[in-house]
Amino acid sequence: MPTVAALAAPSAHAPFERTTIARREPGPRDVVIDIAFAGICHSDIHTVRDEWGAAHHPLVPGHEIAGVVSAVGGEVTRFAVGDHAGVGCFVDSCRECENCLAGEEQYCLRGTRYTYNTPLPEGDPEGAWTQGGYSRQIVVDEDYTLRIPDSLPLDAAAPLLCAGITLYSPLKHWGVGPGTKVGILGMGGLGHMGVKIAAALGAEVTVLGHSLAKRDDGIRFGATRYLATTDPATFRELHRSLDLIVSTVSADIDLNRVLGLLRLDGALVNVGLPEKLLSISPFALTDQRLSVAGSNIGGIRETQEMLDFCAEHDITPQIEVIDADGVDAAWDRVVASDVRYRFVIDVATI
Ligand code: NAP
Ligand code: ZN
Ligand code: ZN
Repeated sequence: MPTVAALAAPSAHAPFERTTIARREPGPRDVVIDIAFAGICHSDIHTVRDEWGAAHHPLVPGHEIAGVVSAVGGEVTRFAVGDHAGVGCFVDSCRECENCLAGEEQYCLRGTRYTYNTPLPEGDPEGAWTQGGYSRQIVVDEDYTLRIPDSLPLDAAAPLLCAGITLYSPLKHWGVGPGTKVGILGMGGLGHMGVKIAAALGAEVTVLGHSLAKRDDGIRFGATRYLATTDPATFRELHRSLDLIVSTVSADIDLNRVLGLLRLDGALVNVGLPEKLLSISPFALTDQRLSVAGSNIGGIRETQEMLDFCAEHDITPQIEVIDADGVDAAWDRVVASDVRYRFVIDVATI
């Protein structure tokens, strides 16, 4: 059984420790990826810190994985040794339900197998639950492996596997294109990808941050306007002017005021996953026939489409590469909204 170096959270609030984890011998349809970089997503933090319920510790998080193929099983047809490959938030699904058949494996009706913290069948060679990308190697079925275009640097490609697809998917689903007026609420890892992708789709993008500290960056990423939700004038200026707002906020905030910015038939799509229930006034919805929706990452086909779109439009996240010893401090900075705009771990330092 191959054993690989990894960075594990021993419990909800303890610092990371170096450890080793088991990866399976590659089966005929498996791709072995030597991980080069792993992005730090706020979901890693919510999960490890039990904010979404008790997690399985010790836990190796990481679902923004980019690396180089080092071996392939005998039946693999789409990957070869040396290819750049990526893995996102899930590594398997039932492949038979209507959502899997529609290419929406993230909504598998029998349960998507997420890249980490998901129970494995008894006796699985990789242990009792899945372990993610803060590790040197991963073994994944080729059907759940993404091709990273050669023009994308591997460090900057990693965050596309979650932050990129989580914004690309709703922007496409809600039909964003030239002329659409899009608001991006919160400009962290997800939000800044939303600005870049929505601008590349031709939309007019407004960022709604909780301060103006990142205004210049937002404009550079492609936004037309950057306004603060702490300033009452923002709500007057943007009243009933936006078609779609995507909320990427990781904290509990009042969304009712934000609904006042949507015009007739507008939609607020929530992708942020704070702990508490969302509280929305029915009156805020009935006025202007508004919709409130959610969206979870994206399927394999759409994730590949997003990677190819980013390569074609030269879109990459703004990243800060850190080594393994810097992960605890980086997490503190993410929680403090002090991230510009995605930390990426140089996995060779684990
Ligand atoms: P992040 O980099 O920490 O960004 C979150 C942003 O939320 C911050 O940059 C900040 O934006 C805003 N924010 C934070 N605290 C706030 C507060 N107290 N009041 C107002 N705004 C606040 O996190 P991320 O990695 O982008 O993830 C964002 C959320 O999406 C997380 O909850 C994560 O779990 C979730 N997520 C969901 C999916 C999905 O598929 N649905 C996928 C990945 C992640 P400003 O400073 O610009 O205001
Ligand atoms: Zn994520
Ligand atoms: Zn399924």
